[in-house]
Amino acid sequence: MSITVKRASQLKAKPDSHQLGFGTIFTDHMFNMDYAPDKGWHNPRIEPYAPIPMEPSTMVLHYGQAVFEGLKAYRHASGDIRLFRPQENFRRMNRSSHLLCIPEYDEAMALDCLKELLRIEKDWVPDAPGTSLYIRPTIIAMDPFLGVRASHTYRFFIILSPVGAYYASGFNPVKIWVTRNHVRAVRGGVGEAKTPGNYAASLYAGEVAHKHGYTQVLWLDGVEQKYVEEVGAMNIFFVIDGEVITPALNGSILPGITRDSVLALCRSWGWKASERKISIDEVMEAHHSGKLQEIFGSGTAAVISPVGELKYGDEIISVTDGKVGPIAMKLYQSLTDIQYGKAPDTLGWIEPV
Ligand SMILES: *Cc1c(COP(=O)(O)O)cnc(C)c1O
Repeated sequence: MSITVKRASQLKAKPDSHQLGFGTIFTDHMFNMDYAPDKGWHNPRIEPYAPIPMEPSTMVLHYGQAVFEGLKAYRHASGDIRLFRPQENFRRMNRSSHLLCIPEYDEAMALDCLKELLRIEKDWVPDAPGTSLYIRPTIIAMDPFLGVRASHTYRFFIILSPVGAYYASGFNPVKIWVTRNHVRAVRGGVGEAKTPGNYAASLYAGEVAHKHGYTQVLWLDGVEQKYVEEVGAMNIFFVIDGEVITPALNGSILPGITRDSVLALCRSWGWKASERKISIDEVMEAHHSGKLQEIFGSGTAAVISPVGELKYGDEIISVTDGKVGPIAMKLYQSLTDIQYGKAPDTLGWIEPV
């Protein structure tokens, strides 16, 4: 399949790469491709960034049949642009699609299309420390139809947004709130898919946490409300008595690529890194016996997000004295050094554009 390219007649002014926020500025071009039952995925094209015309009856607006991804392009000191494990994102979006009854696409072709788009938009990849070009591939159901069934037609698009350093004001620990009144996802549901409904469903508990002065919600499992699953929209790690622990993937946890990279790095250093069930009671007991060393979240946006305080019921515990722990620090430094080409890519994670 060959991609057609229609260039924007006028280019936008590029922002100052030292003043960037997150998710507000979009580049000059986007990728689009359509699906129809008789044609399959067809008409891959790069065109000016523009609204998607749709009828008010468009199925995605009513039934939420959609999936998305989030990854970043990094500018290396040489000026070259690199991706971090992008194959994993396109593989995961196909797995999400499968759960949402969305037709799968050719992953290698999708990556080629992204690279083509990035070559056209290369001047949009910022160069200030900690900045990157955030990439948002998305698929939405396009049939104009009311009634619950899978759509017959879809739009696949990729948009790009230059983003600032996540830790512009320093690598500061966050406060997290353990909720027992809300769950993010349940066994047999779509918790392991990156699908918009999961995020809509997480907002209410997030607002309750914010009202109490907490940054993120710590989600427990939806069946027994006993085992830890995720933190906000990140995976979660605990360091207890020298063991790095993250909840095992069980269908209601999003299989993060940063999560997988953290496990791989820890194991490459010879550390004990486990994927297993971990209950909130085990975490609290580890704290009481002085064995809880660190807690941190992992995800593409923040990479590593250290936790300094946790509230569970009436109890508030301070983790690592509210400071950044040495393991969170080493992982953050190691991952970002690989992503920005400052350390050798010994695990084969860096993809040229
Ligand atoms: C995207 C996401 C993650 C992190 O995945 P990465 O691939 O590491 O960015 C974790 N949890 C949820 C709910 C997510 O949406």
